[in-house]
Amino acid sequence: MRLSRAIAAAVPVAALLAAPLVVPPAPAAPAAPTPLPPTAERGNHVLEQRVLGRSVRGREIRAWHMENAADGKHKGPTVVLIATMHGNEGATRQILQSLRVGKSIHGADVWLVPVYNPDGLAAHSRRNAHGVDLNRNYPYHWADLDGSYESGPRPESEPETRVMMRFLRQVNPDYVLSFHQPLHGVDTANKRPGFSRRVADVLNLPATTLDCGGVCHGTMTGWFNHHFKGFALTVEYGARPPKRLMTHTAPRQVLAIFHAFAGDSSLQR
Ligand SMILES: [Zn+2]
Repeated sequence: MRLSRAIAAAVPVAALLAAPLVVPPAPAAPAAPTPLPPTAERGNHVLEQRVLGRSVRGREIRAWHMENAADGKHKGPTVVLIATMHGNEGATRQILQSLRVGKSIHGADVWLVPVYNPDGLAAHSRRNAHGVDLNRNYPYHWADLDGSYESGPRPESEPETRVMMRFLRQVNPDYVLSFHQPLHGVDTANKRPGFSRRVADVLNLPATTLDCGGVCHGTMTGWFNHHFKGFALTVEYGARPPKRLMTHTAPRQVLAIFHAFAGDSSLQR
């Protein structure tokens, strides 16, 4: 009330009467943020984009929750796909990015984390900005390791580790696939060897034993599999997987693991 009176007093009546009909261009007002185009980069079928937290260097770690276009009967499992846990293994994030901008997903509730270790990706380094291998920093069978498997000063010392632990606790997925390179195979020495062999089969990768050269200390999959009913699995592609495999074939195959698919709503399968 007081404010509007003040404004009224400040504007002479004569000025109002003489006001031109043409509105002059606004003087250098800050432009409103341009909304993203509805498709392309953002993806047509993204339910939610979430910033899970930040890396050591303050970069955002993001997840995209995709719509599940299945009808009520066949909702399928909740699946978390994670790529670029090691910053020098970035090719597989193309699988997730293709799913993000692709057609609607039917029959699985999919979360995508294409760049789990953004500092490592920026530096083309396996480890995070503290020089820690995130896949040795989890609080399950953690051990004090050095070198390229540097496990950090203590379990879950790294922000990226804590961010992912919190996220996985929130989502409580039925399945986690953690994509790596370059060992070219799917681990089967775990609590779900039958399912693991199916993953290898569908992805056309060898079923193998990725045994960390002995006991796996402080791995994300080890921690998850110990504490959760769901199942986390490491999937390794080769050093240089073909681009078309990453952007076209593998996204389709990954969904097929869960009897899910991406397509138009009218498509039946
Ligand atoms: Zn790796």
